[in-house]
Amino acid sequence: MANPIVAIVGRPNVGKSTLFNRIVGDRISIVEDTPGVTRDRIYAHAEWLGKEFSLIDTGGIEISDQPLVTQIRQQAEVAIDEADIIILVVNVENGITDADEQVAQLLYKSKKPVVLAVNKVDNPERRTDIYDFYSLGLGEPYPVSSVHGVGLGDMLDEVIKHFPEEKTQPADDTIRFSLIGRPNVGKSSIVNAMLGEQRVIVSDIAGTTRDAINTNFVGDDGQKYTMVDTAGIKKQGKLYENTERYALMRSMRAIDDSDVVLVVLNAEEGIRELDKHVAGYAHEAGRAVIIVVNKWDTIPDRDQRTMTDFTNLIRQEFQYLAYAPIIFVSAKTKQRLNKLPAMIQTVEANHQRRIQSSVLNDVLMDALAANPTPTVNGKRLRVYYATQVAVAPPTFVIFVNDPDLMHFSYQRYLENQIRAAFDFTGTPIHVIKRKRK
Ligand code: GDP
Ligand code: GDP
Repeated sequence: MANPIVAIVGRPNVGKSTLFNRIVGDRISIVEDTPGVTRDRIYAHAEWLGKEFSLIDTGGIEISDQPLVTQIRQQAEVAIDEADIIILVVNVENGITDADEQVAQLLYKSKKPVVLAVNKVDNPERRTDIYDFYSLGLGEPYPVSSVHGVGLGDMLDEVIKHFPEEKTQPADDTIRFSLIGRPNVGKSSIVNAMLGEQRVIVSDIAGTTRDAINTNFVGDDGQKYTMVDTAGIKKQGKLYENTERYALMRSMRAIDDSDVVLVVLNAEEGIRELDKHVAGYAHEAGRAVIIVVNKWDTIPDRDQRTMTDFTNLIRQEFQYLAYAPIIFVSAKTKQRLNKLPAMIQTVEANHQRRIQSSVLNDVLMDALAANPTPTVNGKRLRVYYATQVAVAPPTFVIFVNDPDLMHFSYQRYLENQIRAAFDFTGTPIHVIKRKRK
């Protein structure tokens, strides 16, 4: 389920973010199109020759007030801790610098596969300069020019050679979920409170980096859960741990590994930009989502009205998450925490829901009768039939005479009718329009 993780490391200005953007291409997401959301990306999906992976730009994890060497060192450690494969970027114009050597040594000791990219090789004459970089001891240097997009193919060929063998995971009924959110919203407190009541089967399985931070437990009703990237586990003495950018990157990774995502908010502090960014990513990734408002005990005079006010605020700030149920909890007093497992089960069931074609088409025909298809420039939209092509998230294809005639508003109308007819609480649904051949 989880894609391999590739991290880019190297000194400032060698071209890490240029390379990152080149590899990722122009997959601009709706989250990044939202005003106020930071545009520079540190984590994104990428693909080479049909192999998908997640890419991290460690240069985006800045640890303020630290000397440059410490910053670079910490970024390399993030790569070593998080990634399956590391791309070390150096700059052909500078030759090998002390910082390059230090990072190379750290990477070498980590025993992780490293691919050495010598950047800014913008013209063929520069190619002869790359041989010096063999002395970093990391194998063959790959000449690239990130601004011109030259040499990336050979380098990526080498990167994907190191991908772990794809393991087909045994089908089982375990629900994978994660708690995501800003530092200090109370994720680890919720984890501890939840686990205190559940029987933990295995915790801290050694093995890959990722397994080591998952926790398995069984609910009272026998349902098996895996808590992905258990929020409570922190490595000691890493400066990067408390940076928001690192938290964001970890959240994105955990979302990728989960079926259900619990977006944790802090009632005491309200909603911040980072909350929106993280929640937007969960939505885009197509995961089931529950919004958990923690520290509810800190709200004075809380009653139905304060809850309604907060709900309205959430609905306004997270419009794309209109389907996500909201629960108000307190890790401190344990209020309503016992409702979480059942809620996780429900949204995951909805996420996996399959609708029979005949039933789906009955709903479609009713919708068409209630609100006839529009005519655009004298041409009438015709909707023939619908079929569900996938689950997690439920994805429907609607066959029409001409997809251009189905505007967003009519598509949204059909989507709402499908939602009204079936229980898809907690899950996004995708509707795709297609021309009937
Ligand atoms: P980072 O700090 O390592 O992320 O580096 P950036 O990606 O921000 O790049 C630093 C500078 O180097 C920018 O001005 C880039 O335009 C430039 N740059 C990046 N890649 C190349 C390249 O392949 N050739 C040249 N000539 N310049 C590059
Ligand atoms: P994390 O960084 O999201 O994992 O947050 P923590 O679980 O470490 O919690 C951050 C701080 O908030 C700690 O001091 C907790 O004791 C406190 N905290 C967590 N949950 C609650 C809650 O429900 N109510 C109150 N009053 N404090 C809480």
